[in-house]
Amino acid sequence: MPTNIIVHIPSNILDAIYAGAKELYPRESFLMLRGRKSKSVINITDLVLAPFAVHGEGFAHFNPYMFTGDYSLVGTVHSHPSGNILPSDTDLNYFFGRVLMIVGYPYEGKGCIAAYDSEGEQILIEITASTKCDDEDFYEM
Ligand SMILES: [Zn+2]
Repeated sequence: MPTNIIVHIPSNILDAIYAGAKELYPRESFLMLRGRKSKSVINITDLVLAPFAVHGEGFAHFNPYMFTGDYSLVGTVHSHPSGNILPSDTDLNYFFGRVLMIVGYPYEGKGCIAAYDSEGEQILIEITASTKCDDEDFYEM
């Protein structure tokens, strides 16, 4: 059954996700998504770096319970350097929040991003006007 939820992501946040994914390529990037959910729209408002989480081997060490109680976190986004934006079984097993977003190589445009719910059903994404977001130093650790 198709889900009727839609994700709104500001273009500058998407750009930041792509920029980080490109920088880490061929490794995978992993970020938490901060946002607000209204009735059927999840508005992504910010990215949160999860430095302990490295997708692949290290992904198993990602502990979502660290974030229990932070209801502003609506999900996660990570990159697939293979370019395949379908979720893996591991991705779904470690589903956190309400939305799982995947960006695929070459990390450009609308076709390199997908969102899924906890059942692995695709969620529509709408790229919205950019918002103010202080992500300048984001990937400089
Ligand atoms: Zn994955």
